[in-house]
Amino acid sequence: MIIKNVSLETVCGITSKLPENIHPEVAFAGKSNVGKSSLINGLMNRKSLARTSSQPGKTQTINYYNINDEIYFVDLPGYGYAQANEHVKAQWGKMIEDYLHKSKQLKLVFLLIDIRHAPSENDRIMYDWIRRNGYDPIIIATKLDKINRSQIQKQVKLIRTTLQAGADTQIVPYSAQTKQGREEIYEILDGILAA
Ligand code: GDP
Repeated sequence: MIIKNVSLETVCGITSKLPENIHPEVAFAGKSNVGKSSLINGLMNRKSLARTSSQPGKTQTINYYNINDEIYFVDLPGYGYAQANEHVKAQWGKMIEDYLHKSKQLKLVFLLIDIRHAPSENDRIMYDWIRRNGYDPIIIATKLDKINRSQIQKQVKLIRTTLQAGADTQIVPYSAQTKQGREEIYEILDGILAA
């Protein structure tokens, strides 16, 4: 995939109606600080178009990036701020649930997990939630540059076992710093565009 042009086309708040896009959508989910903005910026070849995820209490939005007028990257609100109040947590859940239920163009969900740690309870809930909505998420194991090469396989296995994901679940290690893993993700996106 070659990125020609990108723009932030739609920002949806809790009360917004989701756009009825004609192009396929791929969504990015993950806990706050996992590296979601960095990944989306890296894929789009932009330094800071995707903003670093919201602080606790701040408005949560679903952001649609139009890529080449052929596909959308859908940035879902990050989860897992322990200190977020109940209202924010409930809003967050409703937004994601709505999106997974209602989007007609959603083809694939990427779930981001920090490669350094075992997936958290929230990560497991999110993984199950995506699956219950009929999608088989591809896991992006972020911050690859923060571990030794010799640790990669062990950490990937830890992610797989903790999520109870099958051998067919794809796990792609990625570094926003070195862009390792980016070609593999582009190939996955090419597959969606060719479908
Ligand atoms: P978000 O909250 O999920 O959108 O996370 P961000 O993309 O804002 O990243 C959170 C922090 O982790 C920032 O300080 C990033 O610079 C850092 N970060 C994200 N991805 C990587 C990575 O692949 N390698 C390293 N070393 N740091 C990363």
